[in-house]
Amino acid sequence: MMSDIIRLLPDSVANQIAAGEVIQRPASALKELLENAIDAGATEIKISVKDSGKTLIQVIDNGCGMSEADAGLCFERHATSKIQKANDLFAIQTLGFRGEALASIAAIAQVELRTRRVGDELGNVIVIEGSKIKSQSPLNCFDGTSVSVKNLFFNVPARRNFLKSNSAELRHIIEEFHRSALVHNKISFSLQHNNKQLFKLNKCTLLERIIALYGNMYRERLIPLEQKTNEITISGYIGKPEHAKKTRGEQYFFANKRFIKHAYLNHSVANALQELLPKDTFPTYFIYIEVDPKDIDVNIHPTKTEVNFLNNQLLYALLRTTIKQSLGKHSITPTIDFDVEQSLDLGPPKKGQPIKNPFHREHSEYNPFDVKSPGRHTQKPTGRQMTNKEHWKKLYEGHSKELTDLKSQVQPELSILPTEYSSDKDKKIIFQFNNQFILSKVKSGILLIDQHRAHERILYERYLEYLNTRKSVSQQELFPQNVSFSTSDAEIIKEIKDDLQILGFEINQLGKNTFIINGTPSEIQDGNLQQLMENVLENYKKNLVDLNLNNKINIARSMAANMAVRHGKPLKEEEMEKLIDELFACSVTEVSPGGHKIISIITIDQIEKMFK
Ligand code: ADP
Ligand code: MG
Repeated sequence: MMSDIIRLLPDSVANQIAAGEVIQRPASALKELLENAIDAGATEIKISVKDSGKTLIQVIDNGCGMSEADAGLCFERHATSKIQKANDLFAIQTLGFRGEALASIAAIAQVELRTRRVGDELGNVIVIEGSKIKSQSPLNCFDGTSVSVKNLFFNVPARRNFLKSNSAELRHIIEEFHRSALVHNKISFSLQHNNKQLFKLNKCTLLERIIALYGNMYRERLIPLEQKTNEITISGYIGKPEHAKKTRGEQYFFANKRFIKHAYLNHSVANALQELLPKDTFPTYFIYIEVDPKDIDVNIHPTKTEVNFLNNQLLYALLRTTIKQSLGKHSITPTIDFDVEQSLDLGPPKKGQPIKNPFHREHSEYNPFDVKSPGRHTQKPTGRQMTNKEHWKKLYEGHSKELTDLKSQVQPELSILPTEYSSDKDKKIIFQFNNQFILSKVKSGILLIDQHRAHERILYERYLEYLNTRKSVSQQELFPQNVSFSTSDAEIIKEIKDDLQILGFEINQLGKNTFIINGTPSEIQDGNLQQLMENVLENYKKNLVDLNLNNKINIARSMAANMAVRHGKPLKEEEMEKLIDELFACSVTEVSPGGHKIISIITIDQIEKMFK
């Protein structure tokens, strides 16, 4: 007979396994420590981080502190003061409740806890390493708690090796800091990294907090949201559509003061903004949802960032309406009839009653980005009034105009026989179509070139060469302009400033998050430097996350994407010729750096088929 083989795992092993779920990186440890400090009722929280949290994460709070016995217990698994019975799970008022964060952290790091309860004569200090208590003694310390987490994953080399670069881990730390700071504006926070102060946030209003984190330009970019029903309260801010970003970076949902990720609600926001967002952009939002704790399940995921709302659908509809109303109030939307919207019955739907989209009228042709488009509330859209006949007329006129344009470009060449002229290099036919494509003739057919992608390819190869050889592109001087960024973006700018300099940006730091630009690349397309720099950064961050590109390639790509001529820009014949020549001098001519097709040829065969 074989002996029994099932054993209970020792606590230290069980804790390490739990840590695998809860603590992925330094930022996850910071999240847990911040939650504990907030749950302890702190009004001031100081964070100090070394080497992006790999060496040290320390959180000091002025909260309630712990008794000697509690301090001894808090590192035990399932040790919590926040719930007692299963039913309490349906009335959670705190951020923590699982009682496993400190146990997990102590299993995979060297932790020192100092704590004193308000009113106690002495505090306590406990040192614990890999789940083993090394020392515990009374200590004369301040009220509140300080937890230092040193050498995370010191005993799990596989996890430690898995950590990303310092700059990547620091970004996660800052992101986690944002998530707490954005919802607890009544708490003052500070964050130090390697003894350098990154943030010092005083107690303030929510809007002031957002601005303190993201920069003053957000003051004009945000629109307030407000909605209150019996079950649900929605508040916060949504970014104006024209400031939407290329990455999802600035999208924050909070449910009962907890940062959450929620694809369904995100869809609701996107849906509300549908016709207003530029293509491939993501709106900025800071949305705060309050529901009765019994209407939300926060215990579906170990890190508690995913939640289930009891009434998902109602919330979806309500959020969408709230956003539309707010945009409408600020005249940033297809017209809404307020009377209709406000009389909407927002009570809970009866059982089986389908959720209807809120009713509103809108101009389908209204384009908020086009200043000349029909007035917001007065003018009727022109499209709908147009008769069929007019449509035809327009189509015909449009067509014939294109034909004349085409003829005027082609005319001088018409006397030359096709065979002759294709061998005659000096006489090329080149013209622009739809301010988007360059058309020319090649032996096998008609050549089409996407002007933006072609230019992107040219600039990319040029930039990369300059970055690799440390040569500089030509620069144009300009009247110095100030730009400012969020702290995390400013960190990136500092990191890549020297490379941007090579590519023509003369950037100098002014204040903590403010820079002065004295020179720009000569190929710069438009004058709004703040927007341009933000776009370059967005691209850069997106590439970091999605593609894990090497720095030089990433910078070259991000710059090329934003410096290249846009669709919609009319080009002169010389410009087109230059573009084609430069494109064919590139090492790759077929695809843009992002892998999109630059060139297409309509072959004679294909054309002949059209006439069959
Ligand atoms: P949870 O937060 O889910 O209860 P933790 O492992 O994070 O579990 O913490 C265990 C317990 O330790 C908490 O319930 C709380 O009583 C106590 N605790 C942890 N951090 C602090 C702190 N900063 N201030 C006061 N008490 C704390
Ligand atoms: Mg906790």
